[in-house]
Parts: sequence; structure tokens; C-alpha cells
Amino acid sequence: TLLARTIPHAAQAAAARWGDKPALIENGTTVSYNQLWAEARAVASSCLAKGVGPQSRVAIWAPNCREWIVATLGAQICGAAIVPLNTRLKGREAGDILRRAKVSVLFTVKEFLGCDYPALLKDEDTPDLAHTVLMEGDHWQAFLNEGQGAGDDRLDGLLAQVTGETISDIMFTSGTTGAPKGVLSVHGAVVKMFYDWGERVDVREGDRFLIVNPFFHTFGYKAGWVACLVRGATILPMPVFDAAKLADMIEREKVNFIPGAPTIYQMLLIEQEKASRDFSSLRVAVTGAAPVPPSLIYRMKNELGMERVVNGYGMTEHGCVCMTPAEASVDQISASIGTPLPDVEVVCADENGNPLGPDQSGEFWVRGYGVMRGYLDDPEATAETITPDGWLRTGDIGRIDANGYMFITDRMKDMYISGGFNCYPAEIEKLLNDHPGIEVAAVVGMDDERMGEVGKAFVIPRAGVELDPAEVIAWAREAMANYKVPRKVVIVSDLPRNAAGKVLRNALREVAD
Ligand code: ATP
Ligand code: MG
Repeated sequence: TLLARTIPHAAQAAAARWGDKPALIENGTTVSYNQLWAEARAVASSCLAKGVGPQSRVAIWAPNCREWIVATLGAQICGAAIVPLNTRLKGREAGDILRRAKVSVLFTVKEFLGCDYPALLKDEDTPDLAHTVLMEGDHWQAFLNEGQGAGDDRLDGLLAQVTGETISDIMFTSGTTGAPKGVLSVHGAVVKMFYDWGERVDVREGDRFLIVNPFFHTFGYKAGWVACLVRGATILPMPVFDAAKLADMIEREKVNFIPGAPTIYQMLLIEQEKASRDFSSLRVAVTGAAPVPPSLIYRMKNELGMERVVNGYGMTEHGCVCMTPAEASVDQISASIGTPLPDVEVVCADENGNPLGPDQSGEFWVRGYGVMRGYLDDPEATAETITPDGWLRTGDIGRIDANGYMFITDRMKDMYISGGFNCYPAEIEKLLNDHPGIEVAAVVGMDDERMGEVGKAFVIPRAGVELDPAEVIAWAREAMANYKVPRKVVIVSDLPRNAAGKVLRNALREVAD
């Protein structure tokens, strides 16, 4: 079964099945499945020489690229778990993760957007780090050559010991609600989940699948190149988002499949307005994490030629939970996050874990093979998050309708209660974003003697607009229920965000007026 498979076995099987077909295309260079697998084995041999084995942790700190993939596969062949690092982290943050995960080998680069990653790290912050391998130019070639052909028998022996239950990776959560937590995932769950995911979103053999979602996140790694490997699609890694380059790439490489945030489709529409473009190869768009207005979905279908637009939801602790199915209407794709993947059990629960009825608001609880094995070295946090019955408490609030479609409202930690009414900042922000002068809004609860809590909105005005807080409040009174209207509006030029780009409402709560 799929649950017994592993990511390197999937790469090996892909080589056996699709051999010389293109596994990856980067900067005009095509890499076949056979080549990818040969490179992964070369990395594995060199890793062995650096002492990597079944208990090791190997970190990757680099933008989306071919080397990221072969470094991961190589480490996983040896039985090691990989630790992907966010490319926006600063030295202290990265050092903290490397130390907590006891990483012994780091694969990284010196030249990405002016970042020299190894130079950001201090020796005293990384006591376990024995080797840093640069995945660039001569350094990388020398590293690959070191391993070529050596220790083949040992490699086969090690690979045979890697099972569906072996830890594949320790990914760190985005740190939106607190410090990032290390999440232990196993190979079999990743292979099954993203095989099923590929079925749900319609990844086809031979598809050209562009990956601009970062490899250090579930959406770029698992719902990205792993899904391509198990489904036989060609990976097109894109290290930095650039609308014009993306448009060029779609035309040149005949891209079929683009997962990304809603803004990337908006930007493609703008590119198309600037110059005539041939986007006829586009077939599927996969988004999530931000609302997608129906008008955008129609334009994606009519003007970008997308046959399917898919919305979904997940988290590091589980990977993907649900996606909109093929039969979903535009309104369902816009408002809903879809229905659970096969063999993933979801309930909307009250605080005691009792399942609620259709359309009742509660916390999503998720159970099944995909639930993480726990947080790294944190049994307390694990016990708070996974119940004795195996339910993962997501901390997200939403509802499930009578047809089984899930709708996400907000995070539990961000909800506040004003005069007895539950207020969901994400919902109020969405409403505020309709104000013609508001570019972005972020809402938090603040203490209030009379109401318990009231909303406070931080807003960034659109370019060239002079916003008046009193006018915004007056506008909001017309646009939303009274209890949702922010009591205070603060005009700002910037919002605190974590390395994943999510607004840190925690930090905003601490901002003095
Ligand atoms: P931390 O757990 O460290 O606070 P995080 O939860 O932001 O950080 P991730 O695992 O990267 O870290 O993000 C998962 C979360 O993202 C979900 O729990 C949910 O709150 C949010 N999310 C995921 N998909 C969607 C979506 N389609 N719409 C709205 N929110 C989403
Ligand atoms: Mg989380």
C-alpha cells in the first residue's frame, strides 16, 4: 500500500517507470527521472561519507531549485530526516532551529538575493553542525563526485531500512501564534496524502507543474515536488516570484499547473493586459490560505483559460486536510475549502470534542493516518494538540455544511468576544478590505470595560490615499454588524509579519496606541 512507501522509493519507482522522461526543467536544462535518481544516490553516498545515517537530521536552507530536491532525496535514502529552513529567516532564528533539531549537515547556498546563509550562522548557535555543503558551482560538483559510485551496497542496505514509518522530515510551523514548532512526519503518510492530493486536484502524467510556493513549506515540498514525483508530472522550480518571468515561463515551457496565492493569478491577468500572451497550456490553479473572490475565479477561467480552480486547507501538523472536488461550483470554490481527502476524518467540534451539526461553528478536529507523530521534543505541546483518541486539534474555527463542504472562519487564538458576540478578525478584515481606501487591514481585540473586548484595526492606506480613522469607522458602521465595527482605527505603513508572510496579530496586540 501507499502507506508503506517512502519518498526516495517513489523517486526510484519514478526512474524505473518514466526513465528518460523529464522529471525537472530548470533554466532551460531538462533532468530526466533517471538522472534525478542518480544524483540523489550520489548525494546519499557523499552523505554517508559525512556520517549521515538513520538517526541524522539534515537541513536544507535554499530557494526552490533542483539541488534542494536531490539533497533531500539523498539524505532520506540514508534514513535521515530533513529539516527545511525558511529562506527569510535571520541567523538567530535559523540557528535556533538547527540547534533544536540537532542538525549535523546543512545544505545551503551563498548567493541568493544577497543572502550568504552560512555567514549568518554563528558557531556557538549550532553545536551539532558538523558539515555545511554549498549547493553551488564547483562546491556542489565536487560533493556529487565524492559520492559517485561509492558504497552502493551500503546504500541499498540503508534504503531497505527506510519504511513508511520512518520520519521523513521535521518541518517548522510558521510561528503565527507563537514560536515555530518542529513537526515530525513519516514517509508513508506523505506519499499517500500527496498521491491522493494529486488525484483530487488532477495532476496528470506529463503535466508541467510550476512551483513558486517555497520548498520549505508543505505547499512547495509535499503538495509540490513530491506530488509531481508520485504522479509523473514535470517539476519547474521557480526561486523568486516575478510576474513577467512567470508569464515567460508559462509560454516557453507550456506550463499546465500553477499552485499559488490568489495574487499570482491577479498578476498574471495584469501581464496579459500589458501584452498578448499565449497561456493556452494552463489547466489547473490551486490556491488556499486567502479568500478568492468569485470574480477572480471567473477571470481565471475565462481569461487565463484555467479549466479548474481548486481551493484547500491544511497545516504543517497534518499536511493537506481538504480540497474542493471537481464538481464544486464557483461559489463553493470561492467560499469553501472543500471536502476531506480520502481516509481523512474531520469533525467540527465543541470544546469537549463533541461533533456539532451542519453549519454550527466550532473547531476543526482531524484524525487519521496523516496526523503528525508529534512535536519535536515537546510531549506537553503534543498532548495539548493530539487527544488520546488521536484527534488533531487544529485551532481553526469553521463550520461544515450539510453537503460536507468545510468553511474556515478564523483561528481560535485570534477570536475575541465583544459584548457576548464572537468576533473573528479574519472576517472583519475581509469586510474592511472593501473600503476603497484600504490596502490591507489587521484586526485584534483590546480590553474594554463595558464590552469585555472591542476591535482595534490597523490599516495600511492605498497608495496616495489620505485615510481618516473617523471616516473608516463611520464607513464600517454601514458595512458590518455593530459588534464587529472596530472601536479604534490606527493608520500604519507596515504590519508585523512572520517569515511566512502572515500578519502577527500577537505582536499587534502588544502595540501601544
Ligand atoms: P503556528 O502554528 O506556528 O502558529 P501557522 O499555523 O501559521 O503557524 P502553518 O502550519 O504554516 O503555520 O499554517 C497552517 C494554518 O494556516 C492553519 O492552521 C490555518 O490557520 C491557516 N490556513 C491554512 N489554509 C487556509 C485557508 N485556505 N484559509 C485560511 N487559513 C488557512
Ligand atoms: Mg498552526
